[in-house]
Amino acid sequence: MIYADLHAHTTASDGTSTPTELVEEAKRAGLTYLAVTDHDTMAGVPEALEAAKQAGIFLIPGVELSAEGPPGKAHLLGLGVDPLFEPMNETLAQISEFRRQRNEKIAARLRELGIPITLEAVTALAPVGANVGRPHFAQWLVEQGHVSSIQDAFNRYLADDGKAYIERETVTPEASIRLIHEAGGVCLLAHPVLVRLSQQEKIEQRIAALKEMGMDGIEAYYHSHTVAETERLLRLAQKYDLLVSGGSDFHGTNKKDVFLGLVNQGQRLPADRISSRILETARK
Ligand code: AMP
Ligand code: ZN
Ligand code: FE
Ligand code: FE
Repeated sequence: MIYADLHAHTTASDGTSTPTELVEEAKRAGLTYLAVTDHDTMAGVPEALEAAKQAGIFLIPGVELSAEGPPGKAHLLGLGVDPLFEPMNETLAQISEFRRQRNEKIAARLRELGIPITLEAVTALAPVGANVGRPHFAQWLVEQGHVSSIQDAFNRYLADDGKAYIERETVTPEASIRLIHEAGGVCLLAHPVLVRLSQQEKIEQRIAALKEMGMDGIEAYYHSHTVAETERLLRLAQKYDLLVSGGSDFHGTNKKDVFLGLVNQGQRLPADRISSRILETARK
């Protein structure tokens, strides 16, 4: 059987495995297809492509954009995106700059709350050039004994309703979909069950709205999905003529209950469950 995992993070964002380590872990997990999908960066892709060539794994160059705007906040995966496409890299650089500005504000807010944090100390927890995000703040808060766990850090300070939450400027879903297409990729809604919906809104409406904007597919298989949730998403994919994808959302030891290659609470994902148009974007 051929297995796939089309959603995984590296040290280029908030994962703990380098791109090379991730590919080696994928090899050990018996995966044939792997997608590298870091948050708002493709910086890990060149190294992963090189490692995948050595390991004999089909690697899909990807990115996970945190989009915001009508019809709401959504994580959009671009799979088969050309890592050398200049307009994509310009947009990612712009998002990085928004992120840096936001991180400064989070640090300032935490200092107002009496926590002696500096952005330099948080940045030091991430590899050089990596996108620093809220998980790195959480790590610092745990290491310095201000909170008991990563989850505690989010609950008290960093979650969207936390005391040190700062909005972040970013791209809209519509612009994300267009950019991913221009870069040669397919655009998928990540973890549709976790998408924050506005009042009265249903997952189906959200998916239909994004399809209307040109989105190509949805992540029906995911580490936390139940069989019932996946079946419902597969029916929606059929109804709206959407491609089907799946992945774990592996983050290494930053998310200890998520394992590379495992979806639906511990199942491996046979590659034939994934639309061939997505698998065809892999580099050999
Ligand atoms: P950022 O990209 O800096 O906004 O951070 C987003 C990441 O923070 C997500 O990928 C999650 O891993 C994590 N995260 C966001 N909200 C929460 C939460 N309420 N609890 C735990 N982790 C969270
Ligand atoms: Zn993440
Ligand atoms: Fe996500
Ligand atoms: Fe992710």
